[in-house]
Amino acid sequence: MGLIETEGLVLKSYGLAEADKIVVFLTQEHGLIRGVAKGAKRLKSKFGGSLEPFSIVRLTYFQKEDRELVSIQQSEIVKSFFDIAVNPNTFQKFAYLVELLNDFAPPSDPNERLYRMTKVCLETSDAHPEKLSQMILYFELWLMKLGGYLPSWERCDICKRELAKPEPTNLQINFHLACRNCRKTRGEWTILPAQREMFLVAQRVSPLKFLELTKDGLEDVNIVSNILKRIISNVLGRETTGEKILIAGN
Ligand SMILES: [Zn+2]
Repeated sequence: MGLIETEGLVLKSYGLAEADKIVVFLTQEHGLIRGVAKGAKRLKSKFGGSLEPFSIVRLTYFQKEDRELVSIQQSEIVKSFFDIAVNPNTFQKFAYLVELLNDFAPPSDPNERLYRMTKVCLETSDAHPEKLSQMILYFELWLMKLGGYLPSWERCDICKRELAKPEPTNLQINFHLACRNCRKTRGEWTILPAQREMFLVAQRVSPLKFLELTKDGLEDVNIVSNILKRIISNVLGRETTGEKILIAGN
C-alpha cells in the first residue's frame, strides 16, 4: 500500500468524467491493476502518449487499502507496441490478447512469469508481425501452462503409456490424448504426430525459436491453436473472441 513503482503493460484505457481516464495495466510485480489518471484526456497532459494500449511503461501509483481503483501518479514509456497493435490486419488478434490477460490475470495477484511471457511475446511479434498466428498459439499455450490448465500430451490418458513420436492419437473430451489401442472409434479428432510435437516443443523453446520451427507448419498451427481456444473457452465457461477469430478464418 502507499506509493508503488513498477513496470507495466497498458492493456486498455477509457474516458472518465471530462478530463480523466481509467487505465488497466498488467504490472510486473502487482498483477492486474485499474487506476484513474487525472487530467489524462487534456491535450497537454503530463502522461503524454504513455497510456496508449500496448505501451510498456514505468509506472508510479498510489493505492489506498480500501479502494479497488488506484491513483496513477506517473507513467513513462519504456517501449511502445502501439503501432503493430492498431494495424488493421493485426488489431483483432491484439484485442484477443488483451481479453485473455483480463480474464486470466486476477486483480492484484502478481504473476511475474505471466508478465515476462507476455512481454517477450510482444517483442517477438514486433520483430515478426507476419508471424502473429504462430505467436498467438505460443501465447495461448503458455497462458494455459502458467495457469495449470494445460493437459499433458506426453502420455496416453487411459493406459498411461508414453506416446511414441510418430504415433497418431485421439483427442478426448477432456483435451488429453488417447493412444490408438485405447480408442479405436472412427470420427474422433485425430492429433497427428506433427501437431503433438508442436504442442510439446512450444513448452521447451523461446518464442523466436518457436516461430522458426513452425514456419512451414501453418495448417498445424491453426489446428493446435484451435484446440487451445477450446481449452480456454472450457476453463472460462464461455466463448472468447478467439472463437470469433476462428470463424472469421483469419
Ligand atoms: Zn492407451
